[in-house]
Amino acid sequence: MRLQGKVALVSGGSKGIGHAVVELFAKEGATVVSGDITPPQGPFPAGVETVQLDVTSEDQWASAVGDIVKKHGRLDVLVNNAGIIAYEPLDELDVANWMKMVAVDQTGVFLGMREAVRVMRKNRSGSIVNVSSIWGNSAVAGAFSYHAAKGAVRNMTKNAAMTYVGEGIRVNSVHPGFIDTPLTQAQAPDLNKLVIDQTPMKRPGLPTEVAYGCLYLACDESSFVTGTELVIDGGYLAQ
Ligand code: NAP
Repeated sequence: MRLQGKVALVSGGSKGIGHAVVELFAKEGATVVSGDITPPQGPFPAGVETVQLDVTSEDQWASAVGDIVKKHGRLDVLVNNAGIIAYEPLDELDVANWMKMVAVDQTGVFLGMREAVRVMRKNRSGSIVNVSSIWGNSAVAGAFSYHAAKGAVRNMTKNAAMTYVGEGIRVNSVHPGFIDTPLTQAQAPDLNKLVIDQTPMKRPGLPTEVAYGCLYLACDESSFVTGTELVIDGGYLAQ
């Protein structure tokens, strides 16, 4: 029961990694709110609450966090997990697609952190976990906008960690490798095979394997950890 008594908000909690985080956090005793633009794929444990949350919307962040504070009096943990992916190389990327990626994968994280920090500063306590990617630290050809946004998440995390380190708020990023989720299931099998073949463990990761990393960073056992990057990638970045 590592999260007993804590209130957590998970964005993109309806599917994939976010769904696994919601399930694990609930099992570990947290009051969990899952925010997503789409209904949950598969049931949640009893007690999990859901809220309509488009992470690109300032208003929806304000009302999601405001409602949590009204109902539960606090917000202890935010997992900024919602994200999309696209593979256009720089020279084929139009501004509309660039803006869409930045809106969800970068601005969504900014807005979530801003809303959470405003509440957490009052309590002088909180843990924010931002889901970046191995492609926030390293590059493959193409996927220009995704690399840009995930790299930004990595450094936005460190900035927030340094800015609020004296106020009891910890901010860390998680960097998954290839994980078996609806996002990757929708990709071309050839592309998936390529990334798995480049992964030293030669298999996809499971959403729960990322969720356990989020749990560590969310709970008090990581009380001396801020501004760090937790890589969960089957060895991909160690090569
Ligand atoms: P997923 O299976 O597609 O689940 C993501 C969830 O976020 C979906 O329910 C999705 O809804 C939702 N979402 C999309 N746009 C949103 C928005 N504007 N506001 C709120 N929710 C939104 O993805 P995943 O693979 O679990 O990925 C979760 C996170 O991990 C992402 O940030 C991703 O970049 C990162 N990641 C994943 C992998 C991987 O291999 N899977 C690797 C590295 C990093 P819809 O389905 O309706 O779009």
